[in-house]
Amino acid sequence: MSDLPASSGSAAPSTSSSSASSSTSSTSSTPSSSDAVLIDALRQRLGPAHVLLPQEHPGAALDGYQRDWRKRYHGQALAVLRPADTAQVAEIVQLARAYGVALVPQGGNTGLVGGGVPDESGRQLLLSLQRLNRIRAIDTANLTMTVDAGCVLQQVQQAAQDAGLLFPLSLAAEGSCTIGGNLSTNAGGTQVLRYGNARELCLGLEVVTADGQVWDGLSGLRKDNTGYDLRDLFIGAEGTLGVITAATLKLFPQPRARMTALAACDSLPHAVDLLGLAQSTCGAALTGFEVMNAHALALVRRHFPQLAQPLGPHPWTVLLELSDSEGDAHAREQFEGLLEQALTRGWITDAAVAGSLAQSQAMWHLRESIPLAQSEEGLNIKHDIALPVSRIPAFVAACDALLADHVPGARLVNFGHLGDGNLHYNLQAPEGQSPAEFLRTREAAVNQLVYDQVMAHGGSISAEHGIGQLKREELALRKSPVALQLMRQIKQALDPLGLLNPNRVL
Ligand code: FAD
Ligand code: ZN
Repeated sequence: MSDLPASSGSAAPSTSSSSASSSTSSTSSTPSSSDAVLIDALRQRLGPAHVLLPQEHPGAALDGYQRDWRKRYHGQALAVLRPADTAQVAEIVQLARAYGVALVPQGGNTGLVGGGVPDESGRQLLLSLQRLNRIRAIDTANLTMTVDAGCVLQQVQQAAQDAGLLFPLSLAAEGSCTIGGNLSTNAGGTQVLRYGNARELCLGLEVVTADGQVWDGLSGLRKDNTGYDLRDLFIGAEGTLGVITAATLKLFPQPRARMTALAACDSLPHAVDLLGLAQSTCGAALTGFEVMNAHALALVRRHFPQLAQPLGPHPWTVLLELSDSEGDAHAREQFEGLLEQALTRGWITDAAVAGSLAQSQAMWHLRESIPLAQSEEGLNIKHDIALPVSRIPAFVAACDALLADHVPGARLVNFGHLGDGNLHYNLQAPEGQSPAEFLRTREAAVNQLVYDQVMAHGGSISAEHGIGQLKREELALRKSPVALQLMRQIKQALDPLGLLNPNRVL
């Protein structure tokens, strides 16, 4: 590579390396002459149309890359890079390394913890994987598919369906989020109960390492005990250890029938009772078990009044899904038996079973509209937490009571994947109060209160959204020192110059 600076090839970064390891401290956004050489080299490799400079695209033109979905972080990149394939990603990483410039990988930019947007220094390269969007292969006999990291989740689901199979990962952002982002955050979603999270759906990866090599680990093997599991290091690493460029994913037979129901509960302990009953009577056919509290559905009613809410307001509404291998009639029979038993025991007070695919989709739409309704209502304090299912009622009772004392009037928007022990335990400002002001003045104290309770009940401060920038300091406080030390050693071993997504996670 003729346009690398003198330090290329050695481990020592060039003079601008400080921007990578302590990028938040730098405030300069003026490109230097070495930046100009780097940009020129990048333009030669990717083509000028795929190296976007903020100076050349002022205003909000690059907001889609530089601002996060929740609008909490608005950074400025040195440049936005849009490579077309793995080889170009490797060249970018080699150039960034040679010039000591940090890289922030990004997929669909739907992450909720500020992990995929650049900081404000104007010193970080934003590496968008969106143009890596090919379905590489589908092996129906092996039940696998290999896809580029920038494939949108919905595109992957559709390709599986077109082959008569199922890729079960499913979440409300599926029209925009990418497989690379899903794996980098180890995304969960609504089918974890039956199929596991993104980690469990991945058999192999292709990764560009921090020194610009390509690791081809695209294995379709379900068994392979040949040493350390490198794949599992990169999954959930939020772009801090390598850039995922492709993945081999597990596929499943399509269920013959899918059926959805809503059930009204007057208390969370009864929702947990219903979960136990559903698991024991339906077994592996139970593929979804979501809860929504009254405030969550009230926000949906306010912002999306066109969405039908068949049961009306109740303290808790449960959404259940069965995926049946025997067909519609069998699924309906199972559902009706389950709901009748729950009604007899007094665990639910009302229920509605979807009579058509459209009704089933409408029920899911209701659930998936909650984050959007929250966002319409304004900035809020979010907690994506995991707890043992058995301890959820005690956690919620204790935490609700403490919050009622400390932030009177705040609306607890509590919903999530009860079947996985994962709650989105969010706080919206009291009616009439400024959401931004609420977030600014209350977030730190509320987080401490909630996370203290999470830890006291044996839980985790991040169930599925990751750490990013938002929870980095919290992680340092709450994770065991031994675990943190091991994580730092792994980071040091795989990215010794600290160029991959610096100041995220650790
Ligand atoms: P991005 O936001 O672009 O990036 C996320 C992180 O991964 C960043 O740290 C980024 O640097 C890194 N990254 C991205 N691509 C790569 C790559 N190829 N190589 C290395 N690092 C990379 N999440 C859930 O788990 N479950 C849900 O149910 C859920 N529901 C959501 C609903 C809504 C409405 C929204 C907006 C988000 C939701 N999310 C959910 C969060 C988000 O959609 C997921 O985290 C998703 O997996 C992120 O994918 P992305 O492509 O948008 O990643
Ligand atoms: Zn979720």
